[in-house]
Amino acid sequence: MQITVRPLALTLETPFKLSYGATTVRENVLVQIDDGTFTGVGEAAVVPYTGETPARVSAYLGDGALAAALGDNALWLEDALDRLPPGESSAARAAVDMALHDLWGQHLGQPLHRLWGLNPARSPRSSFTIAMDDDEASYRDRLRAAAAQYGLIKLKLGGGDWRDDLERVRIARAAVSAPLCVDANGGWSAEDGLAIIPRLAGLGVIFVEQPVARDDVDGWRALRDGLPGERPPLIADESVQGVDSVPPLAGLVDGINIKLAKCGGLRAARRMIALARAYGMRVMLGCMVESSVAVTAAAHLAPLADFADLDGNLLITNDPYRGAQIVDGMLHLPSAPGLGVTPRD
Ligand SMILES: [Mg+2]
Repeated sequence: MQITVRPLALTLETPFKLSYGATTVRENVLVQIDDGTFTGVGEAAVVPYTGETPARVSAYLGDGALAAALGDNALWLEDALDRLPPGESSAARAAVDMALHDLWGQHLGQPLHRLWGLNPARSPRSSFTIAMDDDEASYRDRLRAAAAQYGLIKLKLGGGDWRDDLERVRIARAAVSAPLCVDANGGWSAEDGLAIIPRLAGLGVIFVEQPVARDDVDGWRALRDGLPGERPPLIADESVQGVDSVPPLAGLVDGINIKLAKCGGLRAARRMIALARAYGMRVMLGCMVESSVAVTAAAHLAPLADFADLDGNLLITNDPYRGAQIVDGMLHLPSAPGLGVTPRD
């Protein structure tokens, strides 16, 4: 197997202002694995807050130990994944996992979702994310434009005072009739959450993502115990990373947001979905700021999810690939073999 690694700088259409800070360019890494018959492609999303760097990701992908671990039979996907060198970067491992799944699917001549027996029509609508904006008029304009195109709007919150967040949701509610969900990115305390979440429920918010900080187990517990039973589901994002992080959240959160870059790829994501279902949790599929390569990989799992937030490729201006599409708010999966992505040029 021949491995090729190249940098992929993605330009954001709108600078992303989260509770962590603002960014305009993301330095992702593309990997291609060629077995002499087909070429599989994968993408590592380098997310600033995880401490990963393009250099570390590229070092893992370009290491001879990785090439040696892959073996020479693309059909023995599980064997190759079992042998991947551990490496600290889950995004780098996810990129290899995607490329190997792409190769496997191309050899079998079917798209991944079909190989897994999934009905693409069962994919939930994908949300589209609206970043925080202090300019009320431009916030409204972006909301209306997004609502016309996507069926579900996700509002980024958690920028400071929960009362300002509530006001943002009120502005959004007045501006658009589309269903809303919110993501606080861990920006609230448990007290903030207890104050704002019942009010969000009154505004028709259908779920609340990562209200409290990543490691704030007491905060999750306080919300579970203190909020009324009738409330929007609370979905863990930053609090859930890989497969091992799911069992400790059982009974604490209502659902988990699975992202390939966090968990290490499609195989780990499928294990997490199975675990989440065993614990009675909702399943959300998310993404980072990524091109159509990584977003499409995740989209193949969408028929297994309750919620999808697969808009990473829609937030950038220089996507080099074409893959899963959102048409009238509905997710359309590619039907070409493997990931089914094709270069744009
Ligand atoms: Mg999130």
